[in-house]
Amino acid sequence: MPTGKCGVNGCGRDAARKVSYLDAKVLEEHGLLLHPVDAAPPRRPGHVYLCEEHYKLWRKLTKRERLLRDLSRKVE
Ligand SMILES: [Zn+2]
Repeated sequence: MPTGKCGVNGCGRDAARKVSYLDAKVLEEHGLLLHPVDAAPPRRPGHVYLCEEHYKLWRKLTKRERLLRDLSRKVE
């Protein structure tokens, strides 16, 4: 279980999950500002802590993409 606060700007809830910043970027495309941790550009994009609420939102936004990825994997 990650410790810390949600990395979404202005949220402030306790973090429930930690995802790669590359994966979390989809949230920025939807207007949220993220604060990544452990980032060391250009090699390490870092991670973003998400609270349960934002994690659910992220899952929703990435669902279609992950589905397509899973489907293409099955074909291989
Ligand atoms: Zn949050």
